[in-house]
Amino acid sequence: MSDIVLQAKNVSKVFQVSQGLFKGKRDLHAVRNVSLDVEAGSIIGIVGESGCGKTTLARMLLGLEKPTEGEILVNGKNLSEMSQLDIASRVQPIFQDPYSSLNPRKTIGSIISLPLRVHGNGDARERRRRVEEVMERTGLPSRLYRNYPSQLSGGQRQRVAVARALIMRPSIVVCDEPTSALDVSIQAQILNLLQELQKEFGLTYIIISHNLAVIEHMAHAVSVMYLGRVVDESPARDLFADPKHPYSKALLNSVLTPEPDKDVPETNLGSTFPNPLDPPPGCPFHPRCDAATDQCRTIDPSMTAVGGGRVACHLFGEG
Ligand code: SF4
Repeated sequence: MSDIVLQAKNVSKVFQVSQGLFKGKRDLHAVRNVSLDVEAGSIIGIVGESGCGKTTLARMLLGLEKPTEGEILVNGKNLSEMSQLDIASRVQPIFQDPYSSLNPRKTIGSIISLPLRVHGNGDARERRRRVEEVMERTGLPSRLYRNYPSQLSGGQRQRVAVARALIMRPSIVVCDEPTSALDVSIQAQILNLLQELQKEFGLTYIIISHNLAVIEHMAHAVSVMYLGRVVDESPARDLFADPKHPYSKALLNSVLTPEPDKDVPETNLGSTFPNPLDPPPGCPFHPRCDAATDQCRTIDPSMTAVGGGRVACHLFGEG
């Protein structure tokens, strides 16, 4: 596990957001200066509350959004210079909601084979063979080939999404909240399927989730995002055994809430998530942090090596 297959280098994404009639537009820094090195065959978890930038980061890793600054490299090639076919054969998505990500008017066979048809891979017979092969591997009976998404259960629909992602034989799969829309009883089945496929095909996963139980179950390393930045990157074992960053500690406490998989976890931070259009000065977490000092209110901490990972917090910096 030493080859870097995916790299984000100082990636930022700024959106222009309308303030309303006659008020002009303002910059929303959805992702700020994020760097990631992802090793082949590893599983990286990206966690944070809604609005922290994790989905925008996922969309950039998939080539669906262009970074405003920085670059994303897949096997050393700049994503923005790659063709759609080249990207699709290396990086594929699995989205949260199998209800909305599958075309209700298309059969399961047609949905799974779509990437092959779009990119002109094989003739009809070869495509059918590959679809049936991937259906079998993802636990979908071949009799569902001519069924429609509405005739499938939620778990089966997510298996279709997994099959569609794998049909191009990518090396990297970006899973954005892959089980959040599923019943708890089905979530474990899908996570176990993803784990089996990862081992069998040597896949690399980026798993985006606000559900830390999912990340703990799956990930080797975790990046914690807050207001568009990565504030903590640690080996998963270290993060869950002994979190360093105050925000990571607060997120871990949120796992104990009754419904951790529903929407934003209750972080018990005593203050709501700040407005990304008007982020606080200094450390962006300081209005919610019990350990904040005057330094935290004025100086933005940079990443510092701590244990096996890195955190952006003055508690661990030179100051
Ligand atoms: Fe809290 Fe200060 Fe660390 Fe920010 S830098 S997390 S405010 S202690």
